[in-house]
Amino acid sequence: MSIKCMKCNRDAIIFQKYSGMHICKRHFIEDVERKVKLTIRKQYKIEKGDIIAVALSGGKDSVVLLYLLHKVFGVRRDIEIVAITIDEGIAGYREETLEKARKLTSELGIRHIVRSFKDEYDKTLDELTAQERKLGACSYCGVLRKSLLNKIANEIGATKLATGHNLDDEAQTIMMNHLGGDVDRMIRLSPPRAIEGLVLRAKPLRKVPEKEVALYAIVNELPFDMSECPYAHEALRGEVRDMVNEFESRHPGTKYSIMRGFDKTVGIIAKEYPQTELSKCRVCGETCTASLCQACKLLGRS
Ligand code: SF4
Ligand code: ZN
Repeated sequence: MSIKCMKCNRDAIIFQKYSGMHICKRHFIEDVERKVKLTIRKQYKIEKGDIIAVALSGGKDSVVLLYLLHKVFGVRRDIEIVAITIDEGIAGYREETLEKARKLTSELGIRHIVRSFKDEYDKTLDELTAQERKLGACSYCGVLRKSLLNKIANEIGATKLATGHNLDDEAQTIMMNHLGGDVDRMIRLSPPRAIEGLVLRAKPLRKVPEKEVALYAIVNELPFDMSECPYAHEALRGEVRDMVNEFESRHPGTKYSIMRGFDKTVGIIAKEYPQTELSKCRVCGETCTASLCQACKLLGRS
């Protein structure tokens, strides 16, 4: 006998250990969408005239993010959604995800901007990491992609920059910042405030567990790429992910409580903690915390 949805008696497709609920496809979709709408309403206040830039890699998180934002705001003529894909130049990997990203934007009729590290920085990520072995690929990739996303978002006049971070990503990052005692980063993770030159970040999926983002993509038959980046072995995050997952399985709801605790305290910490002064990078003009931005530093520009 199949297990039934606790809301409507149809066949359940998932058991949410943290809520104690078995739910069917319809109620699962409803639940994910409710969480996302609530997050947007409470934290990101999308308003008339907003241009929402969406970082679209073609993986499940960003595909679900774009689909959901289009579902919620697609009918609004006073809000524009633009997808941005960064092609870092990772041989054998990015081509596939790029194809999925193109498929989704053309299906949804969403403007899609694709820009590459090669065009922007003269080198692909593969070339950069082969030439400079001091840092791992992810250090280059993360900094340069963030910088390029912000630059493009500014160019198109975007008022928000949405990324597909899910609950697992958020809980892991919060724990990593705690383990590293990194208060600066902790504050930067906090609910966004407007800073000139930096497009406001939004993470509408931050209350949806990773497993549910994947299931949402599957039940809605969204085109997404499941392959993993060949560089993906950031050691500390892997250990923290295992630790958080272990806690979650023994104490369901841990990921939510890590996030809730953080959301409640970060504002208080930020008030007491000296804020870093912001300036413009002397080479590229991007907003940053030193005279030279991280991206230019990594690229050896001076
Ligand atoms: Fe970039 Fe690292 Fe992510 Fe690969 S795993 S896309 S190198 S940040
Ligand atoms: Zn149901």
